[in-house]
Amino acid sequence: MYNFSYQKVSSIADAVEAMQKAEDGKFVAGGQTMLPTMKHRLASPSDIIDLGGIDELSGINVDGDTVTIGAMTNHAAVAASSDVQSAIPALAKLAGNIGDPAVRNRGTIGGSIANNDPAADYPAAVIALGATVNTNKRQIAGDEFFTGMFETALEEDEVITSVSFSKADAAAYMKFENPASRYAIVGVFVVKSGDGVKVGVTGATPCAHRGMRLEEALNGNFSADAVDGVEIPVEKMNADIHASAEYRAHLVKVMTKRAVEACS
Ligand SMILES: Cc1cc2nc3c(=O)[nH]c(=O)nc-3n(C[C@H](O)[C@H](O)[C@H](O)COP(=O)(O)OP(=O)(O)OC[C@H]3O[C@@H](n4cnc5c(N)ncnc54)[C@H](O)[C@@H]3O)c2cc1C
Repeated sequence: MYNFSYQKVSSIADAVEAMQKAEDGKFVAGGQTMLPTMKHRLASPSDIIDLGGIDELSGINVDGDTVTIGAMTNHAAVAASSDVQSAIPALAKLAGNIGDPAVRNRGTIGGSIANNDPAADYPAAVIALGATVNTNKRQIAGDEFFTGMFETALEEDEVITSVSFSKADAAAYMKFENPASRYAIVGVFVVKSGDGVKVGVTGATPCAHRGMRLEEALNGNFSADAVDGVEIPVEKMNADIHASAEYRAHLVKVMTKRAVEACS
């Protein structure tokens, strides 16, 4: 690791001020990605601004049909929340299947979506549930938040404060996971609501995205059989030591079918 200055702040205003004064600052949440990235010398920020002391960034609130999860809320808390379990059970289940207990107790929803790892689970839910990402500056639609591999719509000094999800009539998330890390080789989140069917796909391509072809088929016929005729473009798939592009394209359909069956 390189030398850096560590700052613990207790308000969003102080976090933003510290970031604006820093030469090359970075916010840190649970450090689950940030610290390994620094240890591997893939990042060398001048200042680390720790969001862990900002109380208002943690917690879960239900207001009517909307569930709002503070950015610093860790995955274990989301998984264990009776509010999330009853409002959007698929989201609680997703959080409970992230990594291992250590990761779930340190990793946060804000850190996960800000990092936008192509294999992360939450982005599929944010897209499919039409979530809103709330920041200190604005509200960003889930569909517009993830802009590319490890890239988001966030500005340098923008802090995610919370993520708001709407309840759905039915929702399910299925992932084919890497057996070591549990990151998604492919994960598919299917939501059925009054607005129709929405599908969020992660792991398959460099950035999580809506499965528009799958949505079209499922809006016509909400059944696993409807997925059979959908063509998944192999050339857009990720390929690495874990799975070829062809295998990932196949997994997108299999995970979608399983999610549709779990919704029914
Ligand atoms: C061994 C291992 C296994 C894992 N398995 C899975 C898995 O199965 N599925 C999965 O989805 N994920 C998995 N993860 C990722 C993990 O769940 C974390 O969500 C992720 O690493 C981000 O960590 P963090 O929340 O501690 O954020 P940090 O590492 O602290 O920060 C990550 C990035 O987000 C930025 N950031 C953090 N909070 C905010 C905020 N509020 N506003 C703006 N920017 C912010 C930081 O500046 C940094 O760039 C795994 C991680 C590890 C180490």
